Amino acid sequence: MNRDLSEFQIQYIKGVGPQRVKLLNRIGIKTVKDALYYLPYRYEDRRIIKKIADIQHNNVETISGTIIKIDLIKKKIKIFELYVNDGSGILKAKWFNQPFMIKNFKIGQKVLLHGAVKRNFYYSYYPEMDNPEYEIVSEDDQTIHIDRIVPIYRVTSGLSVRQMRTIMYNLINSNSLNIVDPIPRYILKKYNLPEISETFSKIHFPDNMTNIYELNNGVSPYHKRLSFDEFFMLELGLAILKKDDKKEKGIKFNPNGELTQRLLKLLPFKLTKAQEKVINEILYDMRQPYPMNRLIQGDVGCGKTIVAIFAMLSAIECGYQSALMAPTEILAEQHYLTIYKLIEELGLNICILTGSKKDRPLDKISSGEIHIVVGTHALIQEDVKFKKLGLIVIDEQHRFGVMQRALLRRKGANPDVIVMTATPIPRTMSLTVYGDLDYSIINELPPNRSPVTTLLFKSTQKEDVYEFIKREVKKGRQVYIVYPVIEESEKTDLKSAIIGKEAFTKIFPEFRVGLLHGRMKTREREEVMNSFKNGTIDILVCTTVIEVGVDVPNATLMIIIHAERFGLAQLHQLRGRIGRSSYKSHCILIAYEPLSEEAKSRLNIMVKTSDGFKIAEEDLRIRGPGEFFGTRQSGMPDLKVANIIRDSDILINARKEAFNLIERDAELKEFPTLKEAVEVFWRGKIELFKTA
Ligand code: ADP
Ligand code: MG
Repeated sequence: MNRDLSEFQIQYIKGVGPQRVKLLNRIGIKTVKDALYYLPYRYEDRRIIKKIADIQHNNVETISGTIIKIDLIKKKIKIFELYVNDGSGILKAKWFNQPFMIKNFKIGQKVLLHGAVKRNFYYSYYPEMDNPEYEIVSEDDQTIHIDRIVPIYRVTSGLSVRQMRTIMYNLINSNSLNIVDPIPRYILKKYNLPEISETFSKIHFPDNMTNIYELNNGVSPYHKRLSFDEFFMLELGLAILKKDDKKEKGIKFNPNGELTQRLLKLLPFKLTKAQEKVINEILYDMRQPYPMNRLIQGDVGCGKTIVAIFAMLSAIECGYQSALMAPTEILAEQHYLTIYKLIEELGLNICILTGSKKDRPLDKISSGEIHIVVGTHALIQEDVKFKKLGLIVIDEQHRFGVMQRALLRRKGANPDVIVMTATPIPRTMSLTVYGDLDYSIINELPPNRSPVTTLLFKSTQKEDVYEFIKREVKKGRQVYIVYPVIEESEKTDLKSAIIGKEAFTKIFPEFRVGLLHGRMKTREREEVMNSFKNGTIDILVCTTVIEVGVDVPNATLMIIIHAERFGLAQLHQLRGRIGRSSYKSHCILIAYEPLSEEAKSRLNIMVKTSDGFKIAEEDLRIRGPGEFFGTRQSGMPDLKVANIIRDSDILINARKEAFNLIERDAELKEFPTLKEAVEVFWRGKIELFKTA
């Protein structure tokens, strides 16, 4: 029998009645598959249980003994106390404010307790545990609950860990559970991975020989096997998407270099080697008969925009239109302003399309009169018809995931697509989130950039900050002052941009102070941004609307108010707005107490390094992968077991095998069980195998 375990309802398992079904549903278990993947969050070593006489102060220990006394002490709060004797000594367990606990225990019962030990003879004669995890055991518990490494599950009220363990035990040992291994034999052998039935059986009920440290850290052979599976399914999907692209008929561009040569003459600088290399990779792709899907990665300020312009002009040379899509209106406006001048000089037409722009030159786009359209999502989603769209550049910040790209490509037209990302991504992450793309990197900053010095100030160092501002503006430079919110509110006591603008206008009557935030009208925003660009505003008080894309090389000082409130990626992007010229730049982070440990470590990293890759890796470490790349936004299938940091070597192998296999057998004809498993893994996301 080979049945899809995700369709096998949990109530068919022994010992699971309607009441249990409800409880299991509450913790997310509906099917047998859900249950199998409901892994223990830790394992407890009950092979040999420590004697009370041997447990150590401050250690987390497990003991087992007989209840000899029960007490409910009614002081200011109620304390429930349990005395347990194991023959070597007595231990006292306490639960605070949970008087109902008394119903759970009887004198003479045997219990297991797990928790941190407090052993301080000054206060109490017995060693103690506060709020330990507990389990009542009976003599016939061997094989499931004692004398072995036992799984500990997260449960819900009404379902004890012990009951859950019994359910899992029945499930694992059920005769009707017949799991066919989806992973090809040759792969299991090559990487020495255990077979799937064994994996589920041992991950829930490990042999006594298993290394408990590996189990508890998610790196036992069984955990590794499941991580491999997930990565393999993920990468198979990506490999199929990528292979599909190469099968699609795309535009075979044949640019003559006329416009790009003229552009080169207009530029006040020479391209860096890295920019040239990436431009060549793009041109190579554009000449191929299938659609390009390429990721351009490079730290803030490395000059991605000009690379995009090169690609767009190459498409235009061949009689096509190009589109540049940005994640926010402000960024779209910025790109528009940057590109506008160059494009005009080349005699080409450009327009901007955003949600709030009223005058939309749709007919000029559909007639082909407009060569470049810059905009937000509005430009692909709406009634916008291009005459001949050849290239889309997506300038993004993790906001446009695998799924959206796949859908965009499947819309019918097969334009070439370039994705530019401002945030450097650790390599392993680009293998997943961007795993369906080809990959280019600009690993060099333009010359004559002076590195930014970052300083951490306390909120009380106002005068020092004013001094800094005065000095820069007197030298003819410009300043950003970034606030976390637009307006004050009752909910938080954060400083706001609107109040900040008023304050700085008073403090520096001799300087010109401007205000920029996301709630202003497009027209006003454009005016302010233009004034800052051409130097008629000295100090720009703003919110994070300037986070990406804004490019004013004369700005050399950035003050970030409430820096403790921002994430690392965001701080790095913000700071990327300065240090864009040969003038010396400073970034001042102002932090307000109290600071969490995490905030402190973020701020210290910012002070220590400006290397985007280092910052990204720290960020990944602090926040964990889920948060870091916003799985939800990228629309990717969830990883339940695998962790792209811990298991990066597994990811790399899984990817290699997946891509090799799809290269050989794109339809997975040879491996029907695998094919089904991949389809299930990606279900609800995208249909990988188009039915004929
Ligand atoms: P990002 O990669 O962060 O998008 P931009 O494309 O905004 O960077 O470029 C940052 C700045 O560097 C812009 O002012 C741009 O004109 C300038 N720039 C780009 N390439 C070069 C180069 N090769 N030499 C000097 N300046 C450059
Ligand atoms: Mg940019």
